[in-house]
Amino acid sequence: MADVVDAVPPDATSSSSSLPAVRPDLAALDGYHSAQVDVEVRLNTNESPMPPPVGWQEALSEAIGTIEFNRYPDREATALRTALAASHGVGVDQIFCGNGSNEVLQCLLLAYGGPGRTAALFEPTYTLHRHIARITGTPVAAGPRQDDFCLDLEVVGRVLAEAKPAITFLCSPNNPSGRADSTDEILAVAGMDPGLLVVDEAYGQFAPSSALDLRRNDPAGTRHIAVVRTFSKTWSMAGARLGYLVADPEVVRALELVALPYHLDAVKQLAGRLALDYAAQMNERVAAVVVERERIAAVLADLPVETWPSDANFLLFRPTSKDARVVWADLVSGSVLVRDCSQWPGVTGCLRVTVGLPEENDRFLAALTESLR
Ligand code: PMP
Repeated sequence: MADVVDAVPPDATSSSSSLPAVRPDLAALDGYHSAQVDVEVRLNTNESPMPPPVGWQEALSEAIGTIEFNRYPDREATALRTALAASHGVGVDQIFCGNGSNEVLQCLLLAYGGPGRTAALFEPTYTLHRHIARITGTPVAAGPRQDDFCLDLEVVGRVLAEAKPAITFLCSPNNPSGRADSTDEILAVAGMDPGLLVVDEAYGQFAPSSALDLRRNDPAGTRHIAVVRTFSKTWSMAGARLGYLVADPEVVRALELVALPYHLDAVKQLAGRLALDYAAQMNERVAAVVVERERIAAVLADLPVETWPSDANFLLFRPTSKDARVVWADLVSGSVLVRDCSQWPGVTGCLRVTVGLPEENDRFLAALTESLR
């Protein structure tokens, strides 16, 4: 017992109250928040603008009646994982599901990160990669992307050689810039000793290529590539909190070590499995979002903003004639909410807009044009 007390660092207790101080490495952390403002047009969190298909909602309502709520759910989420495996043409032992892809990322860092192991990433990128690394006590080695947000393979090589990471994150398409890394670039990184190479494809369905193709073409040579996907975007199910990983069975077993028992509730398992019956409708929605994305991009090209090509369901842009925070506030005055990234490192002065319904995009474009006039 005395050993345990001796092991507590002096700053882990508070002298002025009965509550212990929070872990010192967490104290400086800010949570991950997007401003929640009451507006008519919400284009700030990259959700699908459309609700899931009515058929799915009816099928789920009916299926919920069959759940034995007094029993724990299937711990292995077998039906859901089997359906996901079939949809990707992989074995069920290659699928791990989590409460949103954020939980999958957390499990990856719990299993492969931690004190004494490094996570590598290339910024600007999805800020939660760094955030979850920190909350799991994983040191981060970061390198910059190029000015156009593409990977700089020389920088990647240098960072990986110095850090010898246990785990490396790519985000493709990259949030917040929107660009997908090409399969050649991903293969190049895979060949540079990245440890476990996690490709976060939260927006993968909007992009022309996927690291899943690499895994399919050469499963043995890409054992160390893990692909993370989510139901939050394409599948119109952000409210259900469901994400998953496609990887080597050894990676799946590692994640099962750190996931809490029964972490996936029965309703979520059903919701995800039934959603897969609506793949055709979902693909149509993806195509509609891509059409709208290109329409928005064409209008932005004629406004005083810098923009970058997007392979996702959002666009990053930097107003060049007016301060981005003023533009953001003007948009809010027009009841349109976009993401203010203007203070984020690497994307200073930028705003990010999620592709919405055509009428929402019209509202955004009108308010932006008015603000920049
Ligand atoms: N990865 C990326 C790149 C994202 O942008 C998001 C959502 N903001 C996530 C993962 C997390 O998505 P979820 O937890 O809803 O699956």
